[in-house]
Amino acid sequence: STVLVTGATGFIAQHVVDKLLKRKYRVIGTARSEARYSPILEEFKKKYPEGNLTFEVVADIAADDAFDEVLKNHPEIKYVLHTASPFSYGLNKPFDEAYLNPALHGTLNILNAIKKYAPQVTNVVITSSFAAVKQLGDAFKTEIHTNESWNPIKWEEVKNENEAYSASKTYAERAARKFYEEEKPAYNLATVNPPMVLGPQLFDSSVEKVLNTSNEFLNKITHLDPTSTAPQDKFALLAVDVRDVAEFHVLPLENKELESEREFIVSSPLIAQAVLNILNDNFPELHGKIARGDYSSVDDVIARSCPKYDVSSTLKKASDYKLISLEKSVVDVYKQYLSKYS
Ligand code: NDP
Repeated sequence: STVLVTGATGFIAQHVVDKLLKRKYRVIGTARSEARYSPILEEFKKKYPEGNLTFEVVADIAADDAFDEVLKNHPEIKYVLHTASPFSYGLNKPFDEAYLNPALHGTLNILNAIKKYAPQVTNVVITSSFAAVKQLGDAFKTEIHTNESWNPIKWEEVKNENEAYSASKTYAERAARKFYEEEKPAYNLATVNPPMVLGPQLFDSSVEKVLNTSNEFLNKITHLDPTSTAPQDKFALLAVDVRDVAEFHVLPLENKELESEREFIVSSPLIAQAVLNILNDNFPELHGKIARGDYSSVDDVIARSCPKYDVSSTLKKASDYKLISLEKSVVDVYKQYLSKYS
C-alpha cells in the first residue's frame, strides 16, 4: 500500500520513511523543493534500491489548497502521515507567519485535500506534540500529564518563540480533532504526541555542527560551565527516542488498538544532570570539557523540576511496548556526532 508522508525531509520523518520502506510500503514524500529532497532521496536509494520512494514538491504547506494536487494525482494513497510543521527557532518572522499559519493551515489543508480528492484513505496520523499536552505554570511540574491533558495556552498570550511553537501545535491538533468530529470522515485519525525527540540522524550525512532543534538541546547541555559542580537543573523536560516516535507513526496503520489513539509516549524525564551523567559515563574523551555537575543529585533534580507523566494507555495498546532508554538515545546521538565533530 502507498503512504503519503508530508515534510519527509524532516529529522523524524526520515526515520518514519525508513520504517515504512523496511516494511515494504510504497512512500510518497512531500518536500519544499527538489533541492531540499534530492540528497535525502539519494541516500534512501542506496539503502532501498527497490525504488519505493518518490517525492512531490509542496513549496508551502500554509498556502491555500497546498496538498490538493498531490492527492488528486495519487489515487493510490491509502495512508496519510502528516509530520510537516515548523520546528526551528530564530525564524525572524512574525510568530503567526512563522509558526501558527503553517501548523494550523498545513493541518487543515491536508484534511481538506483528503476530503475533496481521497475518499479511499483509511488512516491519518498527525504528528502533534507534548507541546499540546503540557500544563503551564506550577501545574507543569505538579500535574500528572496523560494523553487526556491539553495545553490551555491562548495565542493572544504568546510572548516568545517557544510559546508560539507550543501554541501552534496545540491549535493544529485541536483543529484536526474538531474537523474530524464535524466532518465524520471514514478514515481513522491518530496523533503522536512526543516530548523532546532525541536520537541519531537516519543518515550520517545529515549530521551538522548545529543539530536539529531537539538534539541541539544536548549540545546546549555540553556547553554549560564545565567547572560547575552544582546540581544541573536546566532544560527540565521529558524525552523519547526518534526511532520509537517513528514506530508510533506506523503502528496505527497496523494495529487497530492504536488507529484512533492520542499516542503520548515518554521514555524518561530529561534534565541537564541526567544527560551529563550519561555523557561522562560513556565518553571519557569529554571529561573536563563538559560539566560534571553533582552526579548523585540526578534523582533529586528530576523530582524537583521535571514534569510527571503516565503513558501507560498508549504503551498497553501497543502490546506493552518497551521504549528505548534515554541513555541509548544520548549515546547514539553523541557517537554519531563525535565521529564527525570531535
Ligand atoms: P524538522 O524541522 O526536522 O522537520 C520539520 C519538517 O516540516 C521538515 O520537513 C520541514 O521542511 C517541514 N516544514 C516546516 N515548515 C514548513 C513549511 N512552512 N512548508 C513546508 N514544509 C515545512 O523537525 P522534526 O522532525 O523534529 O519535526 C517533525 C514534526 O514533529 C513536527 O510536526 C514537529 O512539531 C513534531 N515534533 C517534534 C519534536 C522534536 O522534539 N523533534 C517533539 C514533538 C513534536 P524543511 O526540511 O524543508 O525545513
